Amino acid sequence: MTPKFIFVTGGVLSSLGKGLAAASIGALLEARGLAVILQKLDPYVNVDPGTMNPFQHGEVYVTDDGAETDLDLGHYERFTSARESKKCNHTTGSIYHSVISKERRGDYLGGTVQIIPHVTDEIKRCVQAGVNGVDVCIVEIGGTVGDIESLPFLEAIRQFRTDVGKENVLYVHVTLVPYIKTAGELKTKPTQHSVSELRRVGIQPDVLLCRTEQPLGKGLKDKIALFCNVEPEAVITAVDVESIYEVPLKFHEQGLDEQICKRLNIWTRAPHLQNWEDLVYKLKNPAHELTIAMVGKYVDLRESYKSLNEALCHGGVANNAKVNIHFVDSEQVEQKGVELLEGVDGILVPGGFGARGVEGKIRAVQHARENRIPYFGICYGMHMAVVEFARHVLGWKEAHTSEIDPNTPYPVIYLMREWFDYRSQRIEKRDELSDMGGTMRLGAYPCHLLPDTLAAKAYKREDTSERHRHRYEFNNEFKEALVEKGLVISGTSPDGQLVEIVELKDHPWFLGCQFHPEFKSKPMDCHPLFRDYIRAALRYNNDKKA
Ligand code: GLN
Repeated sequence: MTPKFIFVTGGVLSSLGKGLAAASIGALLEARGLAVILQKLDPYVNVDPGTMNPFQHGEVYVTDDGAETDLDLGHYERFTSARESKKCNHTTGSIYHSVISKERRGDYLGGTVQIIPHVTDEIKRCVQAGVNGVDVCIVEIGGTVGDIESLPFLEAIRQFRTDVGKENVLYVHVTLVPYIKTAGELKTKPTQHSVSELRRVGIQPDVLLCRTEQPLGKGLKDKIALFCNVEPEAVITAVDVESIYEVPLKFHEQGLDEQICKRLNIWTRAPHLQNWEDLVYKLKNPAHELTIAMVGKYVDLRESYKSLNEALCHGGVANNAKVNIHFVDSEQVEQKGVELLEGVDGILVPGGFGARGVEGKIRAVQHARENRIPYFGICYGMHMAVVEFARHVLGWKEAHTSEIDPNTPYPVIYLMREWFDYRSQRIEKRDELSDMGGTMRLGAYPCHLLPDTLAAKAYKREDTSERHRHRYEFNNEFKEALVEKGLVISGTSPDGQLVEIVELKDHPWFLGCQFHPEFKSKPMDCHPLFRDYIRAALRYNNDKKA
């Protein structure tokens, strides 16, 4: 059966929460019993966001199949049970890359290769390739209508309606209705302009999601409907909310899911939204409150740690607590010391790359270890934990990760030359000269957990699978010495070669993992490590008060 397609575009300006809108539509349709998948088409020329600076682009979200994708895919997975994959994120770069490869191979039989139809066909092919077995495919177009880069994507989705039939395609446009203080009024003009921009490329939106600070009254909705040629009930207000997890409910209150189903001629049950209601209730009525210090490099930009922030929030929900995140710049810890960590209930060092602020991170780990403050180290944060332990417990002052000090006599974290790779099912090799893009351990890898450890207690099972994105690994050459002094290896690859989780014997909760558990945490199904970490932090907070 042909699935239904919902295309979500954005107008006026970026950061209107198009990704959240798409994710929320997915959540509502799932609540009606439909199987959904979400895709993102990004107009930038990079082939994927893997090499993009997190300052500019925010977090790189990693899927099970090892795709480095836009952070909106994180929202899609958190809001729905869709399994995102390489097939769910395409860019101008990746589309052109495949068109040009085909051209070089001679696939176009000497024809002139053009944006229409060759590039647009490739876009449509990519969208269609990712819809196996779903009822509805929601496709978000990155960027803002009117950008030069978006044009081929808009043209492709315009053609879609003719290709698969009018009754199978719906266009949702997210716009802004700003409140102008001096006039004391909400203004609809930007929305009118942005819709006319869309119509210029042949797309008439069916539904408008209007971001506003204040709810739109009937008069304004009617006006927008008239000028934008949509039905008044298809003008939906997207009012600013306290928590992103309220968005699906807010949309539902205005009948968005009903509108979508009606227009796409989908028959479903009424949506089951009790779990969303419970979630929002818990978020708004926490019994406890605590503070976690996140010690990293990109602390100025919260977008860089999107999934991590969400996972900490989920940990709060699971423990009936509100989690405040105190962002601490690790370079500041180097300059001003651990006083910056005064009063926090847990310390977390997130993933990262490069030398900047590394010593500050190590100081933060030491502070957590010595003062028995719950510690969670993720990827680079695990590397820092091992380096700290080697330096201060074993007395190997020059211990380091070879990422930062290639000449250290104690490369406790290093570039593994050869290992059995469970994803490719073959021996992988690498060295310093391997190309930067291709050498990361990326995507889901199996992890075996050792009994009677924090990890086993959290997961409540012996094996799990987690997502990776890194080059450097724990060096087994130093394992025995480290273990003898109290480092616990609680998770490894099934063959025992790759160390995936480390802990400390005499500490209430100290855990570093080589993978990124935050990618698999969901608001209603918190990742077990975040659940237990926040529980430990809460206990620390209570003990402090007692
Ligand atoms: N820089 C480290 C590595 O490449 C850690 C990466 C990360 O934290 N994701 O192995």
